[in-house]
Amino acid sequence: MFRSRIFWRLYTGYIAVIIISTVIVGVLISRQVAQNSLQEINYSLAIRSELLAEIARPALLEYAQNNPTTVSLQGIITELGENTGSRLSVISADGTVIADSQERPLNMDNHSSRPEVIDARTKGYASASRYSDTLNHQMMYRALRLTDNENLIGFVRVSVPLEAIDEKIGQLRVIVLFGAGVAAISALLLGFYLAKTFSDPLSKMTEVAKAISNGDYEQRISIDSNDEISVLAKAFNRMARNSVVRMTRITTDHNRLSRIFEGMVEGVIAVDQHQKINHINQAAANLLGLSLEDCLDRPIWEQVRAKEINESLERAMENDCVVKSQLRQPSAVGDLVVDIYAASLQDTDQGPIGAVIVLNDISEIDRLERIRRDFVANASHELKTPITAIRGLTETIIDDESMGSGVRNNFVGKIHAQSMRLSSLVTDLLAISRLESGQDKRTFQSFDFSATVRRCVDACRSSCQEKQLILSYVSSSDTEKITVNGDQQELSQLVDNLLDNAVKYTPEGGHVDVSLLGEKGWVRLSVVDSGIGISPQNQQRIFERFYRVDKARSRELGGTGLGLSIVKNIAEQHGGSVSLASDSGSGSTFVVTLPTA
Ligand code: ADP
Repeated sequence: MFRSRIFWRLYTGYIAVIIISTVIVGVLISRQVAQNSLQEINYSLAIRSELLAEIARPALLEYAQNNPTTVSLQGIITELGENTGSRLSVISADGTVIADSQERPLNMDNHSSRPEVIDARTKGYASASRYSDTLNHQMMYRALRLTDNENLIGFVRVSVPLEAIDEKIGQLRVIVLFGAGVAAISALLLGFYLAKTFSDPLSKMTEVAKAISNGDYEQRISIDSNDEISVLAKAFNRMARNSVVRMTRITTDHNRLSRIFEGMVEGVIAVDQHQKINHINQAAANLLGLSLEDCLDRPIWEQVRAKEINESLERAMENDCVVKSQLRQPSAVGDLVVDIYAASLQDTDQGPIGAVIVLNDISEIDRLERIRRDFVANASHELKTPITAIRGLTETIIDDESMGSGVRNNFVGKIHAQSMRLSSLVTDLLAISRLESGQDKRTFQSFDFSATVRRCVDACRSSCQEKQLILSYVSSSDTEKITVNGDQQELSQLVDNLLDNAVKYTPEGGHVDVSLLGEKGWVRLSVVDSGIGISPQNQQRIFERFYRVDKARSRELGGTGLGLSIVKNIAEQHGGSVSLASDSGSGSTFVVTLPTA
């Protein structure tokens, strides 16, 4: 309470008012009291002077008729003066003091020049406060003129010492001041109590408001009164309760929004009107290689180097619209391609409050699209070659009616070879498309993979014999079966493609060695040839569709450029992989690893 400013403001104000009003009232009352006392004394002097006039009248009449008998009057006056506590004087018309209650008249000088006597001579009566030369102190005088048939016969004068009056007034002042002091102390105590009852609830409210502003929303004010402060406290509590509800709602909304942002695959950056980053989600930070903590409250152009993003943001904020652009950056793992959407943000009053940027990483889509385009271009090109050849040969046969049967048969043979090439191309294309579409209802089942490999090797024997190649086959399955869970037809095609290549790219007299080894849940199929081999720079690419080291040779040998990509695809679809070890002129070793059932 003693630290409450409002308490001290109220209380000091109250003290000032009490002190000022006490002083003013005290001064006014003491003045009024003094004035009243003087009036009262004056009134009492007037009455006494009237009475004294009646007593002194006969003596003054006699004195006026030159028959002074002042001795008896002096005695009465002296006694009267003592009894009334005042000084009484009887003065003749010429100013001679006939009798005086405190001094012998003979010792007294002529009083006609006394101010009260001079004034009473003309006005009938007069009062004066002045120093008495006779008694040597301040006195208050009242003089009254006495006449007989309008002839002045003398004056009576009553006086009291002013010291006594001052003493009386002083006593009255002390009483007044004491009363005022008591009233002031009572008022101060009452003021203390009132200021405290007023400031205490306010102090409480201030403390609760501080606690709420520091996040303690459970704080409430308890005030047991029925006045406006209690109404205010109740309103305050209601406000705090509503604040809790609103804060909870805001926090829930904020958390929900944050979770949505964080869960988004797209990168999201929100900036204020000065382009300072307000929010950035993990996806955006990852995409742009930023750290979340370092970015917040920093200008976006300081953190994000991509000019496409900064320019889009600039344009969106400038024109108050949505701007779409694209960022393309080469990286170690291929091109990074990002769709950028920048939109300005406005509050409810249509005022700009910043902007939001959404970053959509379409690198994979872009890569697939490029592969698709290349594939379509390559497939069209590959198909076009045999078609053009067939067309040319058939047109020649049609146009040249005189063509000899030998040439014609040669042409027909070529047409047949091209159509076979066309057929194997279409077969491989269909196989690729079936494998990649994933729509094929492939029925995986457990089967003896070693039997499949043996069948493929057996089927290859005739072509090996044609090229005088030595074909060998070794399998660890001679003692036990090697069971694989998969599509038997596809795995058979995988083995055929590898054997076909080994035979194709191995010159006459060479050898092709096939081995099958089952070990700890895996089976390894190795196809080793002593053929032309593949240089390291080409090894990276031979699993790509339509990639061939030597196009002419491949075509000549009936290759489509799709065989190895089909092998890789089938191996991966079965949870396995394919690898190659080779070098130019020193043969090739293809190893396929598959999980066993
Ligand atoms: P192709 O139908 O042309 O054989 P593949 O996809 O099967 O197409 O093979 C791609 C290329 O890899 C071939 O053109 C060839 O240049 C090279 N290649 C594949 N297998 C071998 C191998 N055993 N020895 C040497 N080169 C090979």
